[in-house]
Amino acid sequence: MEKKILTKYVDDPNQINIDTYLSHGGYKALEKVLKEMKPPEVIEEVKKSGVRGRGGAGFPAGVKWGFIPKDNPKPRYLVCNGDESEPGTCKDRVLMESDPHSVVEGMAISSYAIGSHLAFIYNRGEFAYPARMMEKAVEEAYEKGYLGKNILGTGYDLDMIVHTGGGAYICGEESSQLNSIEGERGMSRMRPPFPAVAGLYACPTIVNNVETLAAVPFIINNGGDWYASMGTEKSNGTKLFSLSGHVKNPGNYELELGTPLSVLINDLGGGMLDGHKLKAIIPGGSSTPMLLPDQIDVKLDYESLVEAGSMLGSGAVIVIDERTCMVWVAERLIHFYRHESCGKCTPCRDGTGWLEQLISRIERGEGKPGDIEKIESLCGNIMGRTVCPLGDAAVMPIQSSIKLFRDEWEYHIQNKKCMVKSEFAFK
Ligand code: SF4
Repeated sequence: MEKKILTKYVDDPNQINIDTYLSHGGYKALEKVLKEMKPPEVIEEVKKSGVRGRGGAGFPAGVKWGFIPKDNPKPRYLVCNGDESEPGTCKDRVLMESDPHSVVEGMAISSYAIGSHLAFIYNRGEFAYPARMMEKAVEEAYEKGYLGKNILGTGYDLDMIVHTGGGAYICGEESSQLNSIEGERGMSRMRPPFPAVAGLYACPTIVNNVETLAAVPFIINNGGDWYASMGTEKSNGTKLFSLSGHVKNPGNYELELGTPLSVLINDLGGGMLDGHKLKAIIPGGSSTPMLLPDQIDVKLDYESLVEAGSMLGSGAVIVIDERTCMVWVAERLIHFYRHESCGKCTPCRDGTGWLEQLISRIERGEGKPGDIEKIESLCGNIMGRTVCPLGDAAVMPIQSSIKLFRDEWEYHIQNKKCMVKSEFAFK
């Protein structure tokens, strides 16, 4: 069921201390790469593991590292993306606050691999406690000689900075995050150039998610083949899933990729809360299209979820029961995305506002005939026409809600009230 690799020690309160981390074999992988491996060998091992970006994009980490131009004389930077803001996602936070040295070690190895001597941990503005734990871990790593000048006598230098943002969803998007580190407003940049070519301070930069980087020490210690032997053919390794919503045991669970969704919801999550029926599942964070109850056996991996019409995303599984109004769900989500739009491009800045107005009036019982079609048209004009993926993220759950639960939307407009609330009001 669970396959605890990255989360093996997160329940040990002493794991935040470097001595405990060392007693569990910590920093051995860093020592190995610095003393026995050349940077291209490290990249090769990570490529072999097949580990893909765990923040949502799912791009192979080793391949991304290989995009750093070899002939560019500018400094190179590594940024660890800890701006976990997608509703439903709370897995990076656990690694940062309960096993922060695994993140520091993964970052140090990755920095060495790409030839960086300065790395940043970008911490979400609201994550005060994880930021403290990361700062403590960085301080301890300097004291013990795992960061700073001439690490372990190998001649390799690396400095690490914990940077806390102001608390904006858009700063989880890598180019906005780089602007934020530079002291600019968190707004997405046009691409190309991609950060690997011109990122932080216009220098080659790799941005990787916390979970991706925390997996690196395990890959180095056990080998890329070992990591690739877990999961499915194309979705290798384990992944942390944040289970929330109407289940008995919400929480973070580390599973081999390819584990059926039903195992997560029913076996680990304990099944539906208060005996209510399952209505829908958002499988990969609030921006991913919904699944229906008859899809509960879908495998949790990148390919299977795309085949099922959704995405693995950040691995935040939100379970929705029969008492939930799907127009209300769409209203809550568009409120969030409208508020978090950085305002750079018109389809997202204005389109999310119009969507919120239309959906809110339907939810209030003031919808008019033709409103659903207007919403569909707006969604179609936002999708794929924005500078960054927030536009797509905002419309996908709405399109999916209308596609799967159109009768509820129509009922709201025709009867000026909610079908679901009417059904469950007195139960
Ligand atoms: Fe900003 Fe939205 Fe455009 Fe992204 S899609 S750049 S968040 S306005």
